[in-house]
Amino acid sequence: MARIPEHIIDRVREAVDIVDVVSRYVSLKKQGKNFIGLCPFHTEKTPSFTVSPDKQIFYCFGCHTGGNVFNFLMKHEKMSFVEAIEKLAGDAGIEIPKYKADEREVSEYDRLYRANQFAADYFFQFLKNHPGQIRDYLSKRGISEKSISDFKIGYVADAWDGLYNEILRQKMSLEPFLRAGLILRSEKDPSRHYDRFRNRLMFPIYNLSGRVIAFGGRTLSSDPNTPKYVNSPESPIYNKGRVCHFRGRLHGFFTTLAKWN
Ligand SMILES: [Zn+2]
Repeated sequence: MARIPEHIIDRVREAVDIVDVVSRYVSLKKQGKNFIGLCPFHTEKTPSFTVSPDKQIFYCFGCHTGGNVFNFLMKHEKMSFVEAIEKLAGDAGIEIPKYKADEREVSEYDRLYRANQFAADYFFQFLKNHPGQIRDYLSKRGISEKSISDFKIGYVADAWDGLYNEILRQKMSLEPFLRAGLILRSEKDPSRHYDRFRNRLMFPIYNLSGRVIAFGGRTLSSDPNTPKYVNSPESPIYNKGRVCHFRGRLHGFFTTLAKWN
């Protein structure tokens, strides 16, 4: 079976809207936040087939068939997983690279995902081990302990080299951290490096597969010259334009931040 790189699957998932795809086969009507229609998988007279644009899933309350956009095509068009991705990639104009030629690119993406995950774990652990002050700050803003764990909210200390030293200590390669914009190289002295994020609450930004692709950092400094929010720069796995189409977890993330402004 052909193997499709994971970042291509992510791109396809982000590019398509399940409502558009299902609408090609089922006549849907908007009802509240969802769309409903007659189930294509069993015979019925009143619609129990539901499509959620927020969650990007479908579910039938009659025959309990459900899943994401890939599952819908697989079931409805009797396609394999790979065929469903190829079909949707074709519709969205996304090219699926040949596996062999793309091997290096895949591992480059993987290195970026790993660097972001490493940083997310570091920030999260830091908040976990940190005195109550920051947790008080969060709880006053309605961020529960559960949200902290669910979103893996973290904290980074007021230092230039917190993450940098941790990378060195764990003997990680610096290169993906530079590409992900977590570590910056000094312009005056290129042999010196420093953390992009300092004294900030760290909100990981996830893609739809739940992988960390970037961060939003909110300052805890009262200095009016410090920007309130600093985000990761764009990288091969983080395209700010595309993030607008992200749903679910990220939507929750933005709602959380919006409440603070
Ligand atoms: Zn059904």
